[in-house]
Amino acid sequence: MPCQNRRREPRAWRIAARPAQPANHYRLLVPVDLHTHSTYSDGTMSPTSVVERAIAAGLSTIALTDHDCFEGLEEAGRAAAGRIDFVPGVELSVDWDGRAMHLLGYWIGDGPGPLQDALVEIRESRATRNVDIVEALRGMGIAITLEEVLEEAGHGVIGRPHIAAVLCRHGAAEDIRDAFDRYLGTGRPAYRPRKRLLAADAVALARESGGVTSVAHPHTVAESAEGYREVFGAVAALGVEGIECHYVDYSPDLRRQLASWADDLGVIPTGGSDYHGAYKPGIEVGVGRGDLAVPDEIVERLEDRRP
Ligand SMILES: [Zn+2]
Ligand SMILES: [Zn+2]
Repeated sequence: MPCQNRRREPRAWRIAARPAQPANHYRLLVPVDLHTHSTYSDGTMSPTSVVERAIAAGLSTIALTDHDCFEGLEEAGRAAAGRIDFVPGVELSVDWDGRAMHLLGYWIGDGPGPLQDALVEIRESRATRNVDIVEALRGMGIAITLEEVLEEAGHGVIGRPHIAAVLCRHGAAEDIRDAFDRYLGTGRPAYRPRKRLLAADAVALARESGGVTSVAHPHTVAESAEGYREVFGAVAALGVEGIECHYVDYSPDLRRQLASWADDLGVIPTGGSDYHGAYKPGIEVGVGRGDLAVPDEIVERLEDRRP
């Protein structure tokens, strides 16, 4: 599904396909969810089930935003076809001034494109990183092999916890924590930094790929609640189209406050449940913990900013 080249549906069709709105000043709120995960990253539900849950919740639009991967989009798009508006998305792990930031990308599909190609490169560099870590450990006299690590990881993405488990089996560490403290943690002898896209580059690549971006759960890059406003100004300067103000973990009051700050900056307040299925119990697609209601007008506003 090469979405980045897909032409936008004509606006008139899109609006006609939505539920009729009352012809007065009041517009019924039809919620949307622009932040969900499936089994293609760290969720427990298939893309089809995420879409089914969105339909059952009465949403007008659902986005699937797996971490650094596009593989679930085709299935989700098929499940959504003709039943609910679907926005192909992704959640990127990027580096913002040395801080780990999550950036949501929308209308970036599974196919060749500047951002997609950059992610392939990063995935390859992660594979090399594991080889480098194993080599470093072997250089320290610990005779573990890459094969053992691959076996430990099974079909999943290989990470340091798998290497830590192998270290424990070799008696080189008492437990996972000890393995990180001695060898694998930041600054420890077998630590190798993970390559990440810089936030500004990710924003530019997303645009070149026909998409828009929004800073996910901004509390993860703000020092404190008071720091939000300052952080909003700084992230807006990156050129993002949105900031995720209607986030599942925020109170309705905080969501409103954040949305008004985003609006002041000309940035669109996006939102979603960050649904992960059983990995984040108590959170449901669309409604979050019961009090989430992301207004559908943000989808049109985001779409208007597509390059
Ligand atoms: Zn995230
Ligand atoms: Zn997420």
